Amino acid sequence: MHHIAVLPGDGIGPEITREAVKVLKAVGERHQLDLVFSHHLVGGALLDAQGVALTDELVEACRRSDAVLFGAVGGPKWDHLDMPDRVDHALIRLRQELSVYANLRQFRLYAGLEDASAVKSDRIAGGVDFIILRELSSGAYYGQPKFREETPRGRRAVDTIEYFDFQVERLARYGFELARQRRGKLTSMSKWNALESSRLWRDVVEEVAGQNPDVDTRHEIVDAGAMNLIQRPAEYDVIIMPNMFGDILGDEAAVLTGSIGMVPSAEISLDGTSLYEPIHGSANDIEGKGIANPIGMILSAALMLRYSLDCPDGADVIDRAVARVIEDGYRTADIRRSPGQQRVSTSEMGDLVAAKINE
Ligand code: NAD
Repeated sequence: MHHIAVLPGDGIGPEITREAVKVLKAVGERHQLDLVFSHHLVGGALLDAQGVALTDELVEACRRSDAVLFGAVGGPKWDHLDMPDRVDHALIRLRQELSVYANLRQFRLYAGLEDASAVKSDRIAGGVDFIILRELSSGAYYGQPKFREETPRGRRAVDTIEYFDFQVERLARYGFELARQRRGKLTSMSKWNALESSRLWRDVVEEVAGQNPDVDTRHEIVDAGAMNLIQRPAEYDVIIMPNMFGDILGDEAAVLTGSIGMVPSAEISLDGTSLYEPIHGSANDIEGKGIANPIGMILSAALMLRYSLDCPDGADVIDRAVARVIEDGYRTADIRRSPGQQRVSTSEMGDLVAAKINE
């Protein structure tokens, strides 16, 4: 039996999460998986109901689960709030409580979506199918000291990039494991020509590479890598990088796939309960219109089957179902580019994917 905590959140979160659960139930039936779902409010929805965006009870419910399926949190109703009421802080705290250390984003351009990609067809002709694995526990966003001050020379602000070798090593080990399950290629991007922390990063990745001679390892300076990723995406399989670089390139890479609504992610925990969510936010501008693309959320559920529930076959079935629905010409508004493509709503897209799973 697998316990899944479902946290739909705000905005389009509930609309897309409903479709992912629908698809998971179809996979459960087909693969005789006993999936038990518990639904919980989080973010603005929980703040409105109970006055806080995340409760200790919710953290415990997530910890007791095998995985967390997370929609998105936030919206204009709450974005003006200050700490500790900030709705986005609920997600940051939940990640910390679950000891998340790596963010895995899967970028794939499905056949038929070439016209929706922001990149010219000759650049993507070789295909787009790679993972960015971003270090999530340290780096520029967490390093101390971090402050602002008034000085005689003007206002001064300081952030610190800090890495310990063990933080780089555990991420690199996971990256090599992923590469071995995929096409056996790992690219490490950092800024070793300018940053001491990146020189440590490169050294540690080299050490781990020495223990993984079967994986083809390459180092790239992140600025050149950012350009190459868009110009020659087919060269990449698994890419590992420090926190801030992964944050930036993780959004950059989304334009290859056709829509931010197509990209799933996993937040991998050291303690066992990982969190699965699409990379986009709560998209309040399209909330309640039935036009949100649920595929990023559905593919996040597939990542959950692959990386938390030990059901790679179920994940493959979802990937194939999504590919076939797109091949058949069905599109939500964000990925529809021509009149020949049939426009479908959020729930119709979920129905189509679930139906392909049952076929
Ligand atoms: P967003 O990702 O929600 O939306 C950006 C644009 O992409 C919007 O035009 C939106 O309509 C579109 N879009 C996003 N997902 C889509 C989908 N599945 N289908 C079709 N179109 C989609 O970013 P934003 O507008 O800057 O943020 C909205 C709210 O979400 C804010 O409150 C922000 O703080 C929050 N947010 C939450 C998370 C999270 O929960 N992980 C992440 C990012 C932003």
